[in-house]
Amino acid sequence: MNTVLTSLLVIFFAFAILFIIFKSNGPGVGKGTGRSIKRGASSHVNIDGSDKKKYATIELASAAAARQGAREHSNFAAYRCSQCNGFHVGHTR
Ligand SMILES: [Zn+2]
Repeated sequence: MNTVLTSLLVIFFAFAILFIIFKSNGPGVGKGTGRSIKRGASSHVNIDGSDKKKYATIELASAAAARQGAREHSNFAAYRCSQCNGFHVGHTR
């Protein structure tokens, strides 16, 4: 009886671990640029590989982030890009 229970637990945990791995590494089920910041703190490109819009100052980028956030009812943040030394806007969630 105990071995059956143990086997069931092992199977359960195996599935749980597989599920966690799939969730973290699985194909992007996705929201377009939603993953851009997660790909790197200072991503220079969009999820499709095209260059992100570049802003000359953090003020311009922040204003754009606020506008985009209001339009899409979501959170956007401005950040400095280490690749082009400009500023980009990225989705924060
Ligand atoms: Zn850049």
